[in-house]
Amino acid sequence: MSAADSSFDSHRPETLAVHSPQPEIRGSRPLGVPLHQGHVFAFETADAMAEAFHSTDTFLYSRMGNPTVRALETAVARLEGGAAALSYASGMGAINGVLLALLSTGGHVIAQRCLYGGTYALLTDLAARWGVDVTFVSGTDPDEVRAALRPETRLLYLETIANPTTRVSDLPALIAVAREAGVPSAVDNTFASPLLCRPIEYGADIVVHSATKYLAGHADVLGGIAVFKDEELYGRVRHYAVEQGAITDPFAAWLTLRGLQTLPLRIERQCANAAGLAARLAGHPAVAAVRHPALAGHPDHEVAARLLPKGGGGVVSFDLAGGREAGRAVVEGVRLASLSASLGDVKTLVMHPASTSHRQLDAAALEAAGIGPGTVRLSVGIEHVEDLWADLEQALEKAI
Ligand SMILES: *Cc1c(COP(=O)(O)O)cnc(C)c1O
Repeated sequence: MSAADSSFDSHRPETLAVHSPQPEIRGSRPLGVPLHQGHVFAFETADAMAEAFHSTDTFLYSRMGNPTVRALETAVARLEGGAAALSYASGMGAINGVLLALLSTGGHVIAQRCLYGGTYALLTDLAARWGVDVTFVSGTDPDEVRAALRPETRLLYLETIANPTTRVSDLPALIAVAREAGVPSAVDNTFASPLLCRPIEYGADIVVHSATKYLAGHADVLGGIAVFKDEELYGRVRHYAVEQGAITDPFAAWLTLRGLQTLPLRIERQCANAAGLAARLAGHPAVAAVRHPALAGHPDHEVAARLLPKGGGGVVSFDLAGGREAGRAVVEGVRLASLSASLGDVKTLVMHPASTSHRQLDAAALEAAGIGPGTVRLSVGIEHVEDLWADLEQALEKAI
C-alpha cells in the first residue's frame, strides 16, 4: 500500500487508523540500517507464505529471522570470516544455543577450566541435569586435549583470552587436535573481538560473543552472537535456535550495529590505553603483579604475540601487595573509572573479583582460577590515558 493508494479513501476512521500506509523511498536509500521492529511479515499468496517457512532468505516471523537482526548477523559473520551467524538475546543465550544444539545426553565436552563464570555454571549444570560429561583442561597443552578425547566427544570449547587471568589459549594447536578427531571447536572471542583475533582462521568451527561487551560497546544493550565457519553447522544450530527462541529484539540488534561501526577505533584505543596502564601499574609500589598479554612477562606472551599481534585487548588485571583490603580500597577509591561487572565499554570499569563475581570460591578455588585476594580487573575504556592513570594513582595511594 502506498501513501497515494486511493482505494483506502472510502474506509472509515477505525480502519484507516489501523492501516496506516508505509512510505515508499524513491531515488535515495537510508544511510543507516533501518530498524524493522515488526515481528511478522505479510504475503500476497498462500504459496509464497508456505515457501517462506522453509527459507532463510524470506522473512516470515521474527523469531525465525528479521531484516535488522540479519544485518547484524551478516556484519559480524563478515568480521569473523564465517559463512553465517545467529544473533541471540545475550551472550549466555548464544552459548546455550550452541551447546544445546550440538549436545545430547551421553555426549562429552572438553572445555577450558578458566571460563566465563556463566559458561562454567552452564557446563556443570548440563552435566548434572542432562548427563553430558565435561572434562576440563588447562587450555595451554594440546596433549591434554588429546588425552581427554573420547568416541562420544562432541565439542571442544575454548576462550581466546580468559577472564580475569588474561591467559591466551593456543587456539591453532588445541583446535588441530580436535579437528584430527573430527570434533568441532567453539571459541568465545568476546575479550579479543574479531579486530584482534579471528578464531575461524585457526580452524574454529564456531565463534561466540557476548555482543554486550566490545561489539556493542556503550553499556546500553545485551546481546550475543554465534558465527559459523560453514552453512551445515549454521543450519543445525539455527534449527534449534528457532525452537529455543532466545532471539535478539530488532532494537537491540540496531543498537549493536550502531556500536559495531566504531569497533575498530575503540579497540585500537582500548589496547593502547591498556598496554600503557599495564606498564605503569607494573612500576607502582602498591602493585605486586600485572597481567596483560602485551607485557613481556605474561605467561603466554609468545602465544599472544602470534595470535594477537595487533594488541592484547582492553582488559588488564593486577594484584595488590596489600591483598583483599587493598583490592577493595582501589575499586572503591577510583572516581573516573566505575565499579561495574561488565567490560568492553567506552568507559573504564573496575572490579574486585574475590569480593564480588568470585566471592563463593574458597582460597584454594580462587587460586586455581588464577585469582588472588588482591586481584583487581580493569576493563580499559577510550578516555585519555593520562586521566585514567591519574585516577588509578590516587586510588592506589589508598592501597599502600
Ligand atoms: C559477559 C560474557 C558472557 C555472557 O554474556 P551476556 O551478554 O552477559 O549473557 C560470555 N562470555 C564472556 C567471555 C563474557 O565476558
